[in-house]
Amino acid sequence: MGEMTTTKINGMAITEINDGQYRVESNSGNTYTVKYCGSGDGDPEYCALWECDCPAGQYGRTCKHVKAVTALVDEDDD
Ligand SMILES: [Zn+2]
Repeated sequence: MGEMTTTKINGMAITEINDGQYRVESNSGNTYTVKYCGSGDGDPEYCALWECDCPAGQYGRTCKHVKAVTALVDEDDD
């Protein structure tokens, strides 16, 4: 396995810890986990495409951590 790479986006340090799972350290020093959870198996309203365990993410909002991770994934798209 390769070593983990940390990328800085919008002042947040993002590390891929697993396939589809990222650790995001925000600029306030809090660390959250953002994970890809697919399309929700036909229930997209129940299961968002991305989940974050920060307070905003708990309500299914697209928080800044998810935005940073998706920006990183788009960048890495090959
Ligand atoms: Zn979040």
